[in-house]
Amino acid sequence: MTSLSPELEAFRDRVVAFMDPHVAEYGQAARLGLSLDDDIALARRWQATKAAAGYAGLTFPTEYGGAGLTQLEQVIFVAEEAARGFPAGYFVISLSMPIPMMLRYATPEQKARFVPPALRGEQIWSQLFSEPSTGSDLAAVRTRAVRDGEDWIISGQKVWTTFAQYSDYGVIVARTDPDAPKHRGLTYFFVDLKAQGVTVRPIRQLHSAAEFNEVFFDDVRVPDAWRLGGVGDGFRLAVETLMIERYTAAADETGFGPPLDALISLAREAQLDGRPALEDGRVRAVIAQAYATQQGLLAISEKSILELAAGREPGPEGSIHKLVGARGRREVALCALDLLGTDGLRFDAAAHPRPKTDFAMSWMDQPTLRIAGGTDEMLLNTVAERILGLPQDYRPDKLPR
Ligand SMILES: Cc1cc2nc3c(=O)[nH]c(=O)nc-3n(C[C@H](O)[C@H](O)[C@H](O)COP(=O)(O)OP(=O)(O)OC[C@H]3O[C@@H](n4cnc5c(N)ncnc54)[C@H](O)[C@@H]3O)c2cc1C
Repeated sequence: MTSLSPELEAFRDRVVAFMDPHVAEYGQAARLGLSLDDDIALARRWQATKAAAGYAGLTFPTEYGGAGLTQLEQVIFVAEEAARGFPAGYFVISLSMPIPMMLRYATPEQKARFVPPALRGEQIWSQLFSEPSTGSDLAAVRTRAVRDGEDWIISGQKVWTTFAQYSDYGVIVARTDPDAPKHRGLTYFFVDLKAQGVTVRPIRQLHSAAEFNEVFFDDVRVPDAWRLGGVGDGFRLAVETLMIERYTAAADETGFGPPLDALISLAREAQLDGRPALEDGRVRAVIAQAYATQQGLLAISEKSILELAAGREPGPEGSIHKLVGARGRREVALCALDLLGTDGLRFDAAAHPRPKTDFAMSWMDQPTLRIAGGTDEMLLNTVAERILGLPQDYRPDKLPR
């Protein structure tokens, strides 16, 4: 990684000294074979351990239990955590989107009530934006919220809601004015996902785990005090929520798949025509291509670290990172599955294998990365318009520029 200042190197040393004694309990090896439920329970304990040591919410203000540090320290911490395979992913949505939005816009009472427990891993938050007819086009939300005295009554359906079955609360955008232009009739609320009228139905995925859900709202009562921002301001806040899902420079060059070394080891052991597969030109080409791609992505990560260090927000490089990383992961996983032969089909779904360590899981899970957080097509548009400066794609729901 880019050379860091002595202060940041000292911070990294402190982080390493804090993490290493916990590797046996929370690291990659400890998690292998755990069910999703058990892994989430382990993740809650790791989050509480971090909070007790002052490492939860590194960029959050100290008055709400955070460490008051910069995005750069956060990047260093996340990279060290990822290198050890600690279970932090279950809190990424809570702590990257809903809670930072609350810190920006909620009342002091709401912040005091929700932020410290979320940092300690006692609450998980969901983001309820997508609907059956609304994903990329966020402004087309149909779920309604109708004012009733001091409350709002919410009815409708959300979908693809990550970890809703484990969540206590969520942020939601609902249509409060059906007569206003579609970008202006939405409002942003907190919702209690255990409230009467909320039904969460897990969706089983190809690899058998259910990491996202359908969520139904059947006349769910939400106090007006749980509205974030003004009535009609929901689209702007939803877009801001997605924007503060900052591109972390620690983003993984493998597109969250197994490291390239795992493919190289496999190719050393596997035989092709009586010789180690590592000597085969086609296998070597996949490895060389993946290596070159990962070096390119690493250079992009380093650039954004420097941007952060200089106090600037990284630009649209994150779009390239996700787009290219996800495609590279598919090629590496396919090659590994070919080399594993029938062994590649031995998939124990009950053991909750992880995309980062298991090639079959990595291959089955990789399409999700090409949809979640902006589809490939949307990211290609971002690259075309914001990096290459090409004319804007046709937007039938907007006036031409
Ligand atoms: C693993 C995973 C987790 C998710 N978690 C959450 C969550 O926690 N909360 C949440 O709210 N949502 C979540 N989502 C939903 C995700 O945000 C949407 O799936 C995504 O925004 C795409 O929307 P869509 O599925 O409605 O597809 P659509 O928007 O209907 O798109 C369908 C196809 O049309 C293309 N397309 C659409 N518009 C354009 C355009 N303007 N230009 C070019 N092509 C276009 C798309 O690229 C795609 O190929 C998750 C999705 C996944 C896969």
